[in-house]
Amino acid sequence: MNKNPQRFTITAALPYTNGPIHIGHLAGVYVPADIYSRFLRMQGHDVAFVCGSDEHGVPITIKAKKEGVSPQDVVDKYNAIIKKSFEEFGVSFDNYSRTSGKTHHETASAFFKKMFEDGKFIEETTKQLYDEEASQFLADRFVTGTCPKCGNEEAYGDQCESCGTSLNATDLINPKSTLTGAVPTLKETRHWFLPLDQYEDWLKEWILKGHKADWKSNVYGQVKSWIDDGLRPRAVTRDLDWGIPVPVEGGEGKVLYVWFDAPIGYISSTKEWAAREGKDWEPYWKDENTKLIHFIGKDNIVFHCIIFPVMLKAHGDYILPENVPANEFLNLEGKKLSTSKNWAVWLHEYLEDFPDQQDVLRYVLTANAPETKDNDFTWKDFQARNNNELVAIFGNFINRVVVLTNKYYNGVVPQPGEYSEVDKKTIEELKAYPSVIASSIEKYRFREAQAELMNLARLGNKYLADEEPWKLIKTDEERVKTIMYVALQLASALSIISEPFLPFTSEKLKRMLNQTEEDSGNTPEWDIIGTKEALISAGHQIGKAELLFSKIDDEQIEKQLEKLKATKTANEMENHQAEPQKDTATFEDFTKMDLRVGTIIEAQKMPKTKKLMVLKVDTGLDKRTVVSGIAEHFKAEDILGKKVTVLVNLAPRKLRGVESEGMILMTENSEGKLVFVNPDETNVNNGTTIN
Ligand SMILES: [Zn+2]
Repeated sequence: MNKNPQRFTITAALPYTNGPIHIGHLAGVYVPADIYSRFLRMQGHDVAFVCGSDEHGVPITIKAKKEGVSPQDVVDKYNAIIKKSFEEFGVSFDNYSRTSGKTHHETASAFFKKMFEDGKFIEETTKQLYDEEASQFLADRFVTGTCPKCGNEEAYGDQCESCGTSLNATDLINPKSTLTGAVPTLKETRHWFLPLDQYEDWLKEWILKGHKADWKSNVYGQVKSWIDDGLRPRAVTRDLDWGIPVPVEGGEGKVLYVWFDAPIGYISSTKEWAAREGKDWEPYWKDENTKLIHFIGKDNIVFHCIIFPVMLKAHGDYILPENVPANEFLNLEGKKLSTSKNWAVWLHEYLEDFPDQQDVLRYVLTANAPETKDNDFTWKDFQARNNNELVAIFGNFINRVVVLTNKYYNGVVPQPGEYSEVDKKTIEELKAYPSVIASSIEKYRFREAQAELMNLARLGNKYLADEEPWKLIKTDEERVKTIMYVALQLASALSIISEPFLPFTSEKLKRMLNQTEEDSGNTPEWDIIGTKEALISAGHQIGKAELLFSKIDDEQIEKQLEKLKATKTANEMENHQAEPQKDTATFEDFTKMDLRVGTIIEAQKMPKTKKLMVLKVDTGLDKRTVVSGIAEHFKAEDILGKKVTVLVNLAPRKLRGVESEGMILMTENSEGKLVFVNPDETNVNNGTTIN
């Protein structure tokens, strides 16, 4: 038992059910939340770790329409896939719910009703974007346009995914209906709004003053910039038929906005769990001593740091989050992960290619977790971390300990003799690890915590390499007993301390050490490493060696890279959009341009520039200098003798002090590489006109 057990409510962002989940979700939210929850449980705290599928909102109705099925069909399909992925990757939710469920509908409905009755909303008739062709109001995802803040031309009506700003549909410049492509008109409709502006002073006090020290700087900074920009009332209802019906008079044909109902899903999920476990859910959300922690990605910061807390505060019955340790984004091979562009490593596909290797992915994602800035997942790094760390250090150490114990002592932990100085120091270091790792986890620094776990394995690996029991066994059998005993303590510690990070490995290792049923008595499991005299006692029978990790070869990595390359090519083909046609040119305009066939006879990169190359071109009229911006795409020696098309009567101009007398015609291929426009036969003379 923990002497000071605390109650924790841990939430992980509700995944949106319009697609399966990928490594970005796992790295940003679910693995850190799981490490944290498992760690707290091992410390003897009282934990409710809840999540569920977010099943309302416009994208689901759009997807349903596209696939000719009902929205319920869409959410049923993805809820099943997502739930299975979480189970397969060992994410230890106490409850995984769904916002289309009955408990949630009742909870969200009651939440709204109380706020409505307490006069917490303002009511407004506003003009909203309306698609005349579809006879439908257009909010958030039904409309795209240019973001007023960053200029992204494909911002949605609720949020710009490029800069993260949350928007109202009417903020968009050049809005367009995603249903019909029509330019929307404005039409009157009546809605309820949450007056966020009225909570500005409170938010400044609570977050900007109160959480300056303990919230992550990336989270704090975003929140501050929103508050500094000024908050505006935000509609909590909308004209739509998929969602939770507005439960008050005048709400017919309207539903709760998905951003309003979704976070209440954490409460509904806790209720379901408590009912099943025969517990009271209320202390988990209403007791001041409970710590509420939201794990999310950075795109959700505004909802969990501003909007949901304002809802909880306005409602009045609930506690506020203690912390919101949001992560930045994980990229894949240098590019932003994207569900719609299929630029992702899907969890269900990963397991097809790397069966039973969940912990390898968990390990690599934590090692590269985008905790303070965006970070990159690459397959090469995945391979290196598996082969050089999990296999070569952790796996190697465990394998040696278990194999040698079986070989020398038939798997029975030997009785140690007197400890040498090295033994004493090693055991001392070992006992310090739980508190070192705990202190990192408590600060939400999971990379750092996991690096320390690997350091503990390193300690074991180095201990064996230095002591060399396989050599000593021939000369000093007694000493080897002590060495193996110490090494076994390290192995046992690893089996415990790895659990939050590598739950499958921890289980396997405990099985190998025959310690699955260990009873830690009144001490929380996490603490026994530091306090218990022997983690594994002399005379204890361990099991046989199994490989914890196996080497990943180049071929497996090549296969993954090929897969991504194919996706990239497919995207480029699909997304290629021709530029709009330019204004009409008269025949005279065209004939003014003197285009000739020429040959590159000299080429040289212009010093101190990235792009420019100085070319000498035989135009048939003369041999002249042309400066061209092709240096990033070609090497000088590769273009000598190249037939090209030259605009010879372009007014000369100086580029970095070199006069350029003409222009070479270029276009680009689907990967953005420049290519020459040239006659398709070599047998064309320089100076021949093109018309
Ligand atoms: Zn933007």
